[in-house]
Amino acid sequence: MFVARQDQLHQLSAFQEEISGFQEISGGDAILRVPILNADSVAAGLLETGGGDLDVDATLQGFLRLLHQRGGVLHCQQEVHALSKRSGGWLVITEDREFYCETLVNAAGSWAGELGRLAGLSDLGITPRLRTALLLRLPAQLFDADWPLVVDIDEEFYFKPNAGLLLLSPADETPSAACDAQPEEWDIAVALDRFQRASTLRISRIEHKWAGLRSFAADREFVVGFDPIDKGFSWLAGQGGYGVQTAPGLAKLSASLLLNAADRLPEQMTPYLQVLSPERLID
Ligand SMILES: Cc1cc2nc3c(=O)[nH]c(=O)nc-3n(C[C@H](O)[C@H](O)[C@H](O)COP(=O)(O)OP(=O)(O)OC[C@H]3O[C@@H](n4cnc5c(N)ncnc54)[C@H](O)[C@@H]3O)c2cc1C
Repeated sequence: MFVARQDQLHQLSAFQEEISGFQEISGGDAILRVPILNADSVAAGLLETGGGDLDVDATLQGFLRLLHQRGGVLHCQQEVHALSKRSGGWLVITEDREFYCETLVNAAGSWAGELGRLAGLSDLGITPRLRTALLLRLPAQLFDADWPLVVDIDEEFYFKPNAGLLLLSPADETPSAACDAQPEEWDIAVALDRFQRASTLRISRIEHKWAGLRSFAADREFVVGFDPIDKGFSWLAGQGGYGVQTAPGLAKLSASLLLNAADRLPEQMTPYLQVLSPERLID
């Protein structure tokens, strides 16, 4: 459910014109659905009822099982320190092992740019950005686990029920180095301030806080396909804030290129081969 203040109604209309499938609702309707919203801060909303929550752990475990069934092997704790060209393929060097492959897929998330540079190629301008999240425990009588995800139309904050708590984010996107991200006090304060202005609640305690990295190419589109310079180096990166929910689709796109089977892709997917190609990111 997107919500807008009086001064944001224009953005709400613009969004509705651009994306179909949303039902227009009044501020009162929005408050009926999520009663902690502040009547002064919600003039209208847009509701979409077809979405749902993914079980991320189950999704990842499912993919891992598929990998094993198909003869794949997962090597953990193997940080890639160096990449070098060898016999037309790549030698991947970790602290205590070496792996050889003809084609390398760079799916290193926020480190994808670094891996590109490690290979002597470009980082394609992929930049990690910090996103902060807090978990709040609301009084039981004020909380409902069935609330929708509530998003400010300018994405200044969003919140949703999460395992009995309320997950809140200031929807921050601060450029960062690829690192073990930590939440910043400033972003936490911004999250609370925006939430408290949009709701009728005052928050005195944060149950848990963390930050993670989401990485973006300059045009914010995903990056899938062979490197423009080295066709043995393939990119599957820049998923921004959508890398979990788009994983099956992006993997299919990537695999079709790696297996030289793009002609077997469903018709509606083929335009994305060009749209997401790394070629667009090279001058
Ligand atoms: C707060 C937050 C909320 C989000 N919400 C959503 C959401 O609602 N929906 C959604 O779809 N997505 C969401 N995302 C985005 C999603 O988490 C990412 O798009 C997704 O995790 C990217 O997956 P990935 O496998 O490409 O990268 P990652 O999950 O970052 O995995 C990259 C892997 O590469 C490894 N690696 C890096 N460098 C090296 C190296 N040198 N050697 C060996 N291994 C290396 C890392 O250890 C890591 O395991 C959110 C992200 C954040 C931070």
